[in-house]
Amino acid sequence: MRKINSCLSDQDASLTLNQAQEKCFSAIKKNLSAEKVAIRSAFNRVIMQDIIAPINVPAHINSAMDGYALRKEDMLNNASFAVIATVYAGQYNDEKIKKNTCIRIMTGAVIPQNADIVIPQEFTTKAGEKIIIDNYIGGDNIRFAGEDLAKGSVVLKKGRLLNAADLGLLASLGIAEVSVWRKLRVAFLSTGDELRGLTESLKKGEIYDSNRYSLFGMLHNLNVEILDMGVVKDDYASLNSTFMQAAQCVDIVISTGGVSVGQADFVKQVLDNIGTVDFWKLAIKPGRPLTFGKINEAYFFGLPGNPVATMITFYQIVQPFIKKLMGQTQNIKPLLVNATSETDIFKSKGRVEFLRARFSDNDGELTVQKLSKQGSGVLSSMSYANCLIVLSENTESVKAGERVKIQPFYALI
Ligand code: AMP
Ligand code: MG
Repeated sequence: MRKINSCLSDQDASLTLNQAQEKCFSAIKKNLSAEKVAIRSAFNRVIMQDIIAPINVPAHINSAMDGYALRKEDMLNNASFAVIATVYAGQYNDEKIKKNTCIRIMTGAVIPQNADIVIPQEFTTKAGEKIIIDNYIGGDNIRFAGEDLAKGSVVLKKGRLLNAADLGLLASLGIAEVSVWRKLRVAFLSTGDELRGLTESLKKGEIYDSNRYSLFGMLHNLNVEILDMGVVKDDYASLNSTFMQAAQCVDIVISTGGVSVGQADFVKQVLDNIGTVDFWKLAIKPGRPLTFGKINEAYFFGLPGNPVATMITFYQIVQPFIKKLMGQTQNIKPLLVNATSETDIFKSKGRVEFLRARFSDNDGELTVQKLSKQGSGVLSSMSYANCLIVLSENTESVKAGERVKIQPFYALI
């Protein structure tokens, strides 16, 4: 008879979160293919080569203010200047500024050739054709060519996930298209005889399938192509055919449920036959049992079925893996920040615990309160929380007033 360990026994054989993450990363052997796309289509995607500035930004020396361009040396013993011309943004006036004269200039207009300062108009008063400078104290208000981005320099590094500012930056360089890694394709399915679709009515013992919906949201945030394989019964043949079918079309297959040692947990049996798969006991709570491996060319994650455990294992393990596979090189793991716990927290040593919690920001000082319901099936706690408190393996208990690490949800994607 085959010995099957319960996920609650044999704590020493557990993998740490970090080990599990690294094992997943090391399974990535090759890059995706690349494609050239218009910069809007590159939003939230990863560039596959460094971007080198083809021009200076700004391209020409120009004014940072609406005001008067003149020569600093003339200001030493004189405050009155004759206005000899006006230049607007996009224009250039090649008239030389002579002693005690100035050119009226708008923000963005090219600085006249021998001017070296722009006096903002709010520091001047008009006196006929002249201006008088009133106690001006600061700054030259000149933007130099290449001051923002210098021609020839690397402005965005390979492996960067392009954000809104990056799109603007590319546009400012006149770059219309960039090369990005192709989008990942991810399939997911739920396993369990008790699961029903949303338009069905529930018989005693049945529940609605919620995991496919939270997974949809989490995957959508990562900008991958999604293939929903629906609910699969707890039987060998159905799982076998769905896994095979999914693995043919996508880069990653994610299933939820059926990875513990319940009698109907066929995921293990199917995977033993069709793929190369590890069954891990993770030293984390919630989310102890987890499966990772490959079915042909597709990576496979078997997440625990409890809805909170599904989400937490996704954020801690699947999401960092997806980012790596997408070619991303920065911000792979969830951001951790400090906060002061408002409550005592009891915990046993030996595993990392993720507690659903709410943090508040009091002028930059974060305090955090753990929610009262922490069961791994209590999905409302994920919804009402705005962060996870992360208690490290060696932490035992926390007293109110002590510092803890949190992962704010807004920074999780
Ligand atoms: P399992 O991992 O299959 O043993 O499931 C553990 C618990 O999570 C059981 O109470 C299941 O009913 C529940 N569960 C499994 N899959 C889902 C799902 N897709 N949506 C909601 N609950 C689920
Ligand atoms: Mg099940």
